[in-house]
Amino acid sequence: MAPERRKYARKYCKYCEAKIEFIDYKDTKILKHALSERYKIMPRRLTGTCKRHQEMAELAIKRARHTALIPYVVDTRNVVAHPFDQLQ
Ligand SMILES: [Zn+2]
Repeated sequence: MAPERRKYARKYCKYCEAKIEFIDYKDTKILKHALSERYKIMPRRLTGTCKRHQEMAELAIKRARHTALIPYVVDTRNVVAHPFDQLQ
């Protein structure tokens, strides 16, 4: 750990931290680490997710969208405070 405090929260891979080996597309709670509040896939440079897990998350998110677990597009005028409460 760097001794000085950083301006931004330290980026780390949440999937590595949780020791997740496989990202299941049915597990929306796991997928939300890689999704924005409007269900868009978060870029790795913002989340700090490692390449391996980012690719897994992208694939899982695309499958989840295909199976209608996650919406493709969210109405931008209808911003929800806690969008993931609607899941499950
Ligand atoms: Zn990782």
